[in-house]
Amino acid sequence: MMNTASIYSQPVVAYLQRNGLNSLNPKAALIDMDGTLYDSMVNHTAAWHRLISETGIPCTRDEFYLYEGRTGAATIDALFVRGLGRHATDEEKERLYHLKTVYFQELPPVEVMPGAPAVMEAFKVFGLKRVLVTGSGQSSLINRLDSDYPGIFLPELRITSRSVSRGKPDPEPYLKAMELAGVRPDQSIVLENAPLGVEAGHRSGAFTIAVTTGPIPAEEMWRAGADIVFPSMPALAENIVLLLTTLRDTRL
Ligand code: MG
Repeated sequence: MMNTASIYSQPVVAYLQRNGLNSLNPKAALIDMDGTLYDSMVNHTAAWHRLISETGIPCTRDEFYLYEGRTGAATIDALFVRGLGRHATDEEKERLYHLKTVYFQELPPVEVMPGAPAVMEAFKVFGLKRVLVTGSGQSSLINRLDSDYPGIFLPELRITSRSVSRGKPDPEPYLKAMELAGVRPDQSIVLENAPLGVEAGHRSGAFTIAVTTGPIPAEEMWRAGADIVFPSMPALAENIVLLLTTLRDTRL
């Protein structure tokens, strides 16, 4: 029996039943960066498209939205295999990813995702540790976190491309984040905007919130294992207190 009911009870109950749990005890929010904290995917896809086109490998701008969450090295390698029939060498991965970050920085500055600061505040008010979990190794954005999200991300609670051997959609980045925060999967909430990241969150065992902030439709998020999908970050910001209350208070 539930002792509370809200419009979010159904996805929470479904999560508890799937994991054989009576309740959830949220202690940490594990948070993606690109497309979640920053409205950066337009620039990322532009930089990737320019880079890969220059290598002579045919590609479209939109396909790079689907690779979001992978490490840069994994994206470069997959495109080499598809376009050139061979793996990229470590030297190529490093050189091309560096060039990609140069192209990215030539583009207009990236804005903070509207609604995301309010969601971070709610996590804080609920006493959740916040852990950054990004496939990015791009310091231009990671270095902005302290000024754009003051007091939200402790330096020791950050997972980047350098922290993991297998990037999203492997659950490793989220499992490492749980280890850093000293929490279990059933004490963790993942916040993601991309199907590969949602898949990683789902496979880690955390309650996974997906937000569509780009051209990828909600159905892709459900298919990747999202526990709940919001149509925008402001929509999540408006409902985050009710969702967190439901996560904390629902009992089976
Ligand atoms: Mg993302």
